[in-house]
Amino acid sequence: MQFSDFALERRLMNAVEHLGFTEPTEIQQQAIPAAIAGHDLIASSKTGSGKTLAFLIPAMQRLNRNRALSKRDPRVVILTPTRELAKQVFSQLRLFTSGSQFKSVLILGGENFNDQVKVLEKDPHFIVATPGRLADHLSQGHFYLNGLELLILDEADRMLDLGFAEQLRKINNAADHRKRQTLLFSATLDHAQVNEFAADLLKKPKRIAIDSGF
Ligand code: ADP
Ligand code: MG
Repeated sequence: MQFSDFALERRLMNAVEHLGFTEPTEIQQQAIPAAIAGHDLIASSKTGSGKTLAFLIPAMQRLNRNRALSKRDPRVVILTPTRELAKQVFSQLRLFTSGSQFKSVLILGGENFNDQVKVLEKDPHFIVATPGRLADHLSQGHFYLNGLELLILDEADRMLDLGFAEQLRKINNAADHRKRQTLLFSATLDHAQVNEFAADLLKKPKRIAIDSGF
């Protein structure tokens, strides 16, 4: 299988080619078409198996293809457990959004709060964030999630282990469930809290578990 088999938008396919990857990894082979078809996902594969592109490619495809439900609210929110991971996801996202119409912002705990308020006021299409700080901005009305189309939980098992359940639920509850798709990624699906959480947040999710990684 090749990336060209996914029938990606031309601009997106160009960006993937630019990365130099031709063959999707196993998790990408399964998650990308299922996510593009609109399914909620609960997916696992080991570290280093390419989960970031498994959610960024469907996210970019969705934004390129559909008109915004709301012109002001973010369309995609990606949550990660740590600042370091958020930065890594953000740098991969920038490979796709730079030179495009789509604005993306990184919202991390420990950084200047008012600077973040200013970037949120610019109505970004994508937010990559750690859950605690994003939930704080949400509580204070610095952005809204009524137009959210895609909620991505990266390393959901670690987010829950770090005690972010309440913040994740708060962010989830602020978004309209009828219009929204949710993609949950975890290093393992053998995690009681992840499964309980998925049962509450996801709609008829497809379950994808890759044992071998690449
Ligand atoms: P995970 O989130 O599963 O730990 P990452 O998304 O961080 O994995 O990807 C791990 C590495 O694999 C990154 O350096 C990424 O650029 C690379 N990678 C991703 N997809 C592919 C692919 N299809 N072919 C080759 N390398 C890839
Ligand atoms: Mg990852």
